[in-house]
Amino acid sequence: MRLNYIAGAGGSVVLDGQSIGRGGEGQIMPVSGSGTLVAKIFHQPTLERWWKVWLIMGKPAPPANGHCPVAWPVECLFTHEAKPQFAGYLMPRIAAAQPVFMYYTHDLRLIRCPAFTYAYLVRAARNLSAAVGMVHGRGFAIGDLNESNILVREDALVTLIDSDSWQVRDTERGITYRCPVGKGEFIPPELQGRNLADVDRCPHHDHFALAVLIWKLLGEGCHPFDGVFHGGGDPPPLEARIVSGVLPWRDRSGLWSPKPGAVFFGLLHPVLQDLFYRAFSAGHREPRLRPDAAAWQDGLRRAEADLQTCPRNPRHRHWGTRCVWCERTTLLGGIDPFPAGSSQPAQRGTSPGRNGRRNGTAGKQAVPVPQVAAAAAATAPPATPQPLVQLLNDIHGLCRQASARLTKHPFMVLGTAAILILIVEAAAFLIVSFLRSAGRLPQP
Ligand SMILES: [Zn+2]
Repeated sequence: MRLNYIAGAGGSVVLDGQSIGRGGEGQIMPVSGSGTLVAKIFHQPTLERWWKVWLIMGKPAPPANGHCPVAWPVECLFTHEAKPQFAGYLMPRIAAAQPVFMYYTHDLRLIRCPAFTYAYLVRAARNLSAAVGMVHGRGFAIGDLNESNILVREDALVTLIDSDSWQVRDTERGITYRCPVGKGEFIPPELQGRNLADVDRCPHHDHFALAVLIWKLLGEGCHPFDGVFHGGGDPPPLEARIVSGVLPWRDRSGLWSPKPGAVFFGLLHPVLQDLFYRAFSAGHREPRLRPDAAAWQDGLRRAEADLQTCPRNPRHRHWGTRCVWCERTTLLGGIDPFPAGSSQPAQRGTSPGRNGRRNGTAGKQAVPVPQVAAAAAATAPPATPQPLVQLLNDIHGLCRQASARLTKHPFMVLGTAAILILIVEAAAFLIVSFLRSAGRLPQP
């Protein structure tokens, strides 16, 4: 199939190859004579979609430095007609990358990219945070952030794709072009069950999805709200668990426990434990408390620096003194998640994928690469023992709730003050009585 399109800045492009990716909204086509660009052609292009792409193009693309962290639109494409119609757009071709779930899903990783170690997974999480921060920094919300629109290379570099689905705000005309879709497991509790076409997305909504993806990257693909249900009947669906805020790894009711195959929360770096707590527990009460992309970037950088190497297998990287991967190998009956000697990618296939991705890359294992320059001096607080952090956060949350309720009801303020006075009086009475009985104070 050979198709001619007019490029927005003049000239034309020819799309003359087979589609290299097809989704519900459009298909990805190679651009003739260009090894660096692909075209997304919509099945049903709309004026809104055109305007969205146009507004994204109005903001500077993140610096590439040899790799595109975001597949930013380059040019709009129009049909060759007397009255040209919007058809799609050009964007960078992202080669030699696979969807992120290929790396965090244990079985797929062992087959498709066994050379990807845990250090690479940590670095991919850090690079993902950097890419999300770049989008937010330009005033956009991603909305439908999920495991299918994130591509990862074997050197752990990350690219966000599907920019045309973001939420884009036209500040001059006062119009918000929303992202009307989302995957249930990445939708924050406050948006579950709502019609997303009616919702203005915010960065803190994306921060929930980002935390889920980082959890999956660091936890062998397990979802933070997934666990073993010990109640009667069928377990509630994942979306309902997200709404309830019950986390199997910190549930004390006895209804839930972590899955046997899940990576133990207590073996994560303390900084990451704190970030996850803020994302899923404190952030459940107050969504704006969720860590943003910069906080994750900084936390992951600090955690990465503390990774230890297992003496039995140098491809085992872990935090603390216990090698979680040796323990996991035993748990899995001898299947090592990061087997020694896997220095070559298993596959060098060229199965086509969306946006020109291929399965596997040539050559030896690449070194994980930071997406951007290392962050400035650490801004996160020093690691605190997790139980104390949870206790303090719980007390802080209760105080915030109590304070918010009291300020709404002046009579409750007066009542509370009276109770406090009575408590102080009772305490004083008890202390005086004790001192008198001990002979430290004269009898009246
Ligand atoms: Zn080990």
